[in-house]
Amino acid sequence: MKPAAFRYHAPKTVEEAVAMLAEVAPQDGRVLAGGQSLVPTMAFRLAKPAHLVDINGVAALNCLTVAGGKLVIGACVRHAAFHQPVCEGPLGKLLTDVVHHIAHFPIRNRGTFCGSLAHADPASEWALVLAALDGEVVAKSARGERIIAARDFFKGIMTTALRDDELLAEARLPMLATDTRCGFYEFSRRAGDFAMAAALATYRNVGGKIAEPRIALGGVEVNPRRIAEAERALDGAEPGDKAFRAAAAAATAAVDPMEDITTSADFRRDLVLAVTRRALERAAAA
Ligand SMILES: Cc1cc2nc3c(=O)[nH]c(=O)nc-3n(C[C@H](O)[C@H](O)[C@H](O)COP(=O)(O)OP(=O)(O)OC[C@H]3O[C@@H](n4cnc5c(N)ncnc54)[C@H](O)[C@@H]3O)c2cc1C
Repeated sequence: MKPAAFRYHAPKTVEEAVAMLAEVAPQDGRVLAGGQSLVPTMAFRLAKPAHLVDINGVAALNCLTVAGGKLVIGACVRHAAFHQPVCEGPLGKLLTDVVHHIAHFPIRNRGTFCGSLAHADPASEWALVLAALDGEVVAKSARGERIIAARDFFKGIMTTALRDDELLAEARLPMLATDTRCGFYEFSRRAGDFAMAAALATYRNVGGKIAEPRIALGGVEVNPRRIAEAERALDGAEPGDKAFRAAAAAATAAVDPMEDITTSADFRRDLVLAVTRRALERAAAA
């Protein structure tokens, strides 16, 4: 099938983009970023936006920089930018580990980090990273700018706190201390498929004990989130099999897994046990 008819707009500045969005949002106007989720849904006529505001010509949205202790990722930065470390230290390395789990090379060449956040697929790897690290996004509109914390951003399957006329202009991730250990583990049926469950673990080893643990899960519930029960099981424990298994068991008990035609909630819960422990093992080996 071909997409339904739409009007195409190509702003050159952020100001033009948000002015156009203000005009067309009431008529189901949408941002077009990498098109890797939007265009297929339009081709299937699951989405029929009357207007597309293509942000690919807005040079200012191509920024990828470290400022104020945060990695700032502009709306036009592609997944493929993360094939190489984009910043010093464990954060740059973590992002290169994660990116290879997103789809396939041609999709990574077009799809954007911020597009994944705006699309808010429950299994999005970048959404999991944002949630795990307590990142934030900057939403711009003709009315002004607001900063939305990760925990307030994701509102359900493919639903976010973004308003119809808002452009997700950039995402910000906190830089990680140089001794932060990070591990990511994803289970999917085939390479490039969406995750059926994924875990991201980070911690610091202070005097032989786990400090500042973070455990977050993606692809399990409607949104990725940190799992406080698993983090409590790790805090102050000696890094190793006993603590990692306890955290994985706590995560398993804490989640309310989604169910779909191929994956039961019980199976997803079993996956949580495995991916959490393996993410922690990878962090320990890092
Ligand atoms: C075969 C296949 C496999 C895939 N596998 C994975 C996978 O394993 N993991 C994964 O995370 N993703 C996967 N994807 C999706 C891919 O990562 C997309 O690139 C991503 O979901 C959307 O980014 P995009 O830039 O292409 O956004 P688009 O497709 O352009 O837009 C998606 C939605 O977000 C909105 N939007 C985009 N950018 C903005 C913005 N800056 N401000 C406001 N709204 C915005 C659009 O209006 C639209 O509603 C897959 C896609 C395909 C086709």
